[in-house]
Amino acid sequence: MTPEQIQMVDLYTQYEKVQPEMDQAILDVVRSTQFINGQAVKSFTSALSDYLDNAYVIPCANGTDALQIALMALDLKQDDEVIVPAFTYVATAEVIGLLGLKPIMVDVDPYTFNTTAELIKPKLTDRTKAIIPVHLFGQSTDMEDILILAKDRGIAVIEDNAQAIGAKYTFRDGSSDFTGCMGDMGTTSFFPSKNLGCYGDGGAMTTRDHGFALKMQMIANHGQSKKYHHQVIGCNSRLDTIQAAVLEIKLKHLNKYSDARQEVAKYYDNNLAGIDGLITPTVAENSTHVYHQYTLRVLNGKRNDLKAFLADHGVPSMIYYPLPLYKQVAFQSILESDFDLPVSEQLSHEVLSLPIHTEMPSETQDFIIETIKKFDFS
Ligand SMILES: *Cc1c(COP(=O)(O)O)cnc(C)c1O
Repeated sequence: MTPEQIQMVDLYTQYEKVQPEMDQAILDVVRSTQFINGQAVKSFTSALSDYLDNAYVIPCANGTDALQIALMALDLKQDDEVIVPAFTYVATAEVIGLLGLKPIMVDVDPYTFNTTAELIKPKLTDRTKAIIPVHLFGQSTDMEDILILAKDRGIAVIEDNAQAIGAKYTFRDGSSDFTGCMGDMGTTSFFPSKNLGCYGDGGAMTTRDHGFALKMQMIANHGQSKKYHHQVIGCNSRLDTIQAAVLEIKLKHLNKYSDARQEVAKYYDNNLAGIDGLITPTVAENSTHVYHQYTLRVLNGKRNDLKAFLADHGVPSMIYYPLPLYKQVAFQSILESDFDLPVSEQLSHEVLSLPIHTEMPSETQDFIIETIKKFDFS
C-alpha cells in the first residue's frame, strides 16, 4: 500500500467483498422496473425494524429530509424553539430554520463531543418545543437525563442518529436501547460514507410510537392518508428501490462493520494514547461507540500543522467541524444575539478525524500511526 492510496473511507474494497450478491440485487431491481416502492423497500424496511428491536422504520430520501419530516410531525408554530448542539453537521440546525422555527444552540461536552442535560437545562424556556440531540461520530448522547428533562416539560426529543446507527445506550436500570429509538423520533442517513451507507442518497425515520410512525409516513408521502387524499402539507421523500436493495445486503453485515471500526479505533487508541498534545476519543460509560469518525483533539494550536504534515505524507484527514454552527453566515439572521459556546469554539480549532473504515489494512494503519508519531507536538 503506497501512501497515495490511503483514503478516509474505502467503499470500493467493501463493495468487492459482496460484489456478486450486490450486482445481482441491483440487476434484479432494474429487471423488475419497480424503481419506486419496489419489493426491496419493503423488505429492507422490515429488516431494519427487526434489527432495531421492532422500532417503526419509515424510509425517506436522505438524512436531512428525515430531520425535516420528524420536525414537521410535531406541528410546531413559527418561532417555537428547538434546542440543537452547535457542534454538529449543518443539516441538524438547517431544517429548524427552514421550517421557520428558532434554533437554540447549546454547547457540548469536550470529551464525548455530545450535548448533555446540564448544558440544555439553562436554555429551556416556555417556547422550547423540541430537543435534537446528535449522536456525534458514532456514540450515543447521554440520553437518560435529557429524556427526563423533556418529559417533565412536554418537550419532544428527536435524535439525529445519522452517524451512530447500531450504537446502544444503557440506562441506569440496566436496560438498553438503540440510538434513534429512545426519543419520540429518530432520524438517520444512508449517505454512502455513513456506517450503513447506500450507493446514492437515502435516509429513514425511526420511532417506537405508532402515532408518530403513521404521521411521518404520511408527511413523507405528500401528506396522503390514502391515494389522492391529502390530510396535511407533506413532501415527497422516498428511498429508491435500488438503494434499498443495496442497504438490505449491507444491513446483514452492519454488526461486522461496526466491529471492524471498533478494531481500528482500538488500534489507534493503543498506539496514540501516550502522545503529549493529543487527546484520543473518549467512549462514554453508558454507550457503545460505532466510530463513524475517529476524532482526535490536537492541543497547543497544532491541529492545522498536523493536518498539513499528514497530507504531505499522503495521509488524508478531515476537520469535522471547522465552525460552530452559530458562526455560519446562514444562521446569523435567525439567532438570538451574539453569544459563544466555549467548548464548541475550542473543538472547532482542535478536532481532526483520521481515516477509519471497515476494510483498513493494518499496514496502512501502521503507516498513519508512524507518520503521526514523527510530528512535533510541542
Ligand atoms: C450526514 C448527516 C446528516 C444529513 O444526512 P444526508 O443524508 O446527507 O442528508 C444529518 N445529520 C448528521 C449529524 C449527519 O452526519
